[in-house]
Amino acid sequence: MDKKYQPIIGMEVHVELKTASKMFCGCKNDPFGAPKPNIYTCPVCLGLPGALPVANKKAIEWTISLGLALGCKINLFSKFDRKHYFYPDLAKGYQISQYDLPFCYDGEINTSFGKIRIRRIHLEEDTGKLIHSTINNKKMTLIDFNRSGVPLIEIVTEPDIKSASQAKEYAKKLFQIIRYLDISEADMEKGQMRLEANISLQIQNSKTKNQNNQLPNYKVELKNINSFRFLEKAIEAEIKRQEEIINEGKTPTQETRGYNAEKNITYSQRAKEDASDYRYFPDPDIPPIKISESWFESIKKNMPENYDYLLSRWEKEYGAQKSTLSLLFETNTQSKWLDGLFSYFKKQNLDTKKLINFLVNKKIKVNLFVDNYQKIISVFNQSISTSQIDEEEIDKAISQAIKENPQAVLDFKSGKKNAINFLLGQTMKILGKKTDTKIIIEKISKKIF
Ligand code: ZN
Ligand code: MN
Repeated sequence: MDKKYQPIIGMEVHVELKTASKMFCGCKNDPFGAPKPNIYTCPVCLGLPGALPVANKKAIEWTISLGLALGCKINLFSKFDRKHYFYPDLAKGYQISQYDLPFCYDGEINTSFGKIRIRRIHLEEDTGKLIHSTINNKKMTLIDFNRSGVPLIEIVTEPDIKSASQAKEYAKKLFQIIRYLDISEADMEKGQMRLEANISLQIQNSKTKNQNNQLPNYKVELKNINSFRFLEKAIEAEIKRQEEIINEGKTPTQETRGYNAEKNITYSQRAKEDASDYRYFPDPDIPPIKISESWFESIKKNMPENYDYLLSRWEKEYGAQKSTLSLLFETNTQSKWLDGLFSYFKKQNLDTKKLINFLVNKKIKVNLFVDNYQKIISVFNQSISTSQIDEEEIDKAISQAIKENPQAVLDFKSGKKNAINFLLGQTMKILGKKTDTKIIIEKISKKIF
């Protein structure tokens, strides 16, 4: 594959933490559950002058847990900084964020195409929410401060991503790890996880091909993408747009762009700021954060087993594939429950691989994480005895029956419904075992049409 342009992509992902209270005040952190706008507010999160912020300990611990899960180094001495910009949803005129001492830095995340380096993870606060609506025939913008001050982490990668599909895989893996740590619901429809991609194209010729250190002199930030699928499509559309500009001999403008899913195009939103435009300085109201040795140890002790290690261990011990296993659970509480179930099965010499496949394909009706293990064993054993033959064997037999009886297939295709009974009989004969005929009939007709 010889491509003319190599996409260079870095990602910035914002995630709202699901702490009970907000980042710097005691207000309830539940903007989606709130019965009315502007009820979970106080002088701190409304940005009233003189109100004093106090940092949320749990939010700091969870940020560090994510950092540890991604192999980051941790700044045990850290601080919060003010990031200044004007927008109506930001009452103070600045966002409390972290500038030069983020809690976590220099980590990595494993993907099928290699490691993606994590540059930093910092902790900040979310803004209020603007609601554009029409009241009494007048267009208005309303502000809801229930979300103002909700703890927000930002995960920034190095520009190690080379395609839209890689960006999607990275975002999915990050989502899985955040759900596993159980520090956020990360529901993208609710804006609890928000994806941004920085994209530029590197012109490739034989000389520079193996030199990735020369980065392009511009980048375009794609903002506010709220699904994995849109992330992939938006990046593809943006790559195409930049290719066309470069082909005309021009350089794309450094700017922030949005994505219009209906038209499948990106559109310009505003020129991109430099860090200096934000006039960062340490927040004088919040003392620096010192993580003591004992506090750090207790955070480490409360970490669940590493997500990748867990899947590798399960693959080895229980015989199912990692990709299959990852479909069965989200949080570490759930994985611990499953771990218990699998080892209970194994101790009784039952087929854990088969159980896992049954659970993933919903072939047995059980309440995961609720039913007791013994009940699941009996449901499993029951279903095993009624369908001893596996899918592969049935599919093979059907293919053979179809191949050996072309006339019956033609008859069935031309509308003679009875022909399927003949094919069923032939399939059963090849199988040589009793099994659910309804399933086989379904399968035969699916195969023919
Ligand atoms: Zn508040
Ligand atoms: Mn941010």
